[in-house]
Amino acid sequence: MDFTIHPDLEALRRRVAGFVAEHIMPREADVIAEDQRREYNTLLSLQQRARDEGLWTPHLPVEFGGLGQGVMGMCVLFREMGRSPVGARVFNCDAPDQGNMDLLLTSASPTMREKWLRPLCEGRITSAFCMTEPAPGAGADPSNLATAARQEGNEWVINGHKWYSTGGQDASFLIVMARTSDDPKTGASMFIVNRHAPGVEFIRNIPTMGPEILAHREAEFRFHGVRVGEEAVLGRIGEGFSLAQKRLVPARLTHCMRWLGLASRALELCKSYISTRTSFGKLLAQHQSIQQMIAKNALAIHSGNLMTFHCAWMLEQGMAREARPYSSMAKLHVARTLCDVLDDAIQMHGGLGYSDDMPFGLWYRHARSARIADGPDEVHVMLIAREFLMKELRLLW
Ligand SMILES: Cc1cc2nc3c(=O)[nH]c(=O)nc-3n(C[C@H](O)[C@H](O)[C@H](O)COP(=O)(O)OP(=O)(O)OC[C@H]3O[C@@H](n4cnc5c(N)ncnc54)[C@H](O)[C@@H]3O)c2cc1C
Repeated sequence: MDFTIHPDLEALRRRVAGFVAEHIMPREADVIAEDQRREYNTLLSLQQRARDEGLWTPHLPVEFGGLGQGVMGMCVLFREMGRSPVGARVFNCDAPDQGNMDLLLTSASPTMREKWLRPLCEGRITSAFCMTEPAPGAGADPSNLATAARQEGNEWVINGHKWYSTGGQDASFLIVMARTSDDPKTGASMFIVNRHAPGVEFIRNIPTMGPEILAHREAEFRFHGVRVGEEAVLGRIGEGFSLAQKRLVPARLTHCMRWLGLASRALELCKSYISTRTSFGKLLAQHQSIQQMIAKNALAIHSGNLMTFHCAWMLEQGMAREARPYSSMAKLHVARTLCDVLDDAIQMHGGLGYSDDMPFGLWYRHARSARIADGPDEVHVMLIAREFLMKELRLLW
């Protein structure tokens, strides 16, 4: 087993890390403040700089303006970008666009790729993914899918109600999952829907625990007889559930990469504070209970790194089916790790940690959603246990 990062990728990693430290971190508060006023000057100038420096969308194939780095490359680079909550957006690698790019690359027709994927890759538009519905519709269990599409001549007519469509308000197109038959396996299909098509009603951005930052605004939509043509179907009719799996496995892994970056930055901030703050005659870093928190979190981040890399490697070997339980393990572990690291970071910083003079509160309010979005913890627990008990999940691979 060789853990060496190829020298070309390592050089790229250093450049991305340098860009994040030098250009993004000093401006991240500006990007967030401007975004609250719906102004994007700083973000746009950072994005232009990323393009100029050849660091734009490194995960994409060269033909779509990327560097063809693949999943292992993403692992190395996205962790660096994730050190800032606005980092991934600067390189056009943020959710949900990045997962949607992957889906369109593999499953959209050439016409739809030119119409929607190319401007998405160029950062001229954004997108959203609409699967989840308010109860009793699709949630942790996608088979509750209630939004339906029925065929009328050459068109599909979509009716339904969605929420938690991240970035939906500003998106130019939506990927909408809808029921096209009652078959439990092949009963769902995905459609590309123009966000401004007649019948698409944007209801609101749901007020959430995490403040709105860039695409991370959770839209609620109703679809009233929205008409799309055959060319809007992603893959084939009936492939919705399998495409969702295809999108979700790598997409949840890229979340892990970004979260690992943020978790490691939080732990580094702890190191600065506990190495200078004295309490009861010694530095905080010299107290055993503080060391325990540091070691526990370092261990969790390192385990998360290994799980994420292993699963990315499986995807790169074409083992998408086999990778599923490992992606659940990585997602479950890294989402919890991020929340734990941030909670401990607040604790180690005392009153300062609880204040908004430090970023932990803001980061934590977002991080908490990691244990719910892309499948709640309990569903990943169920999947891992099912694979172990009923199939042959290999723990000593
Ligand atoms: C910030 C954020 C962004 C999101 N972005 C998107 C997006 O862009 N597109 C999109 O389509 N969706 C998105 N989602 C929705 C997300 O994927 C769903 O919230 C998630 O799948 C859970 O579905 P639900 O909210 O309907 O919870 P429910 O299905 O109502 O489940 C509620 C709770 O029940 C428990 N539970 C469920 N099933 C089981 C089980 N089998 N065993 C034990 N306990 C169980 C869990 O604790 C779960 O949290 C986002 C969610 C959040 C919070």
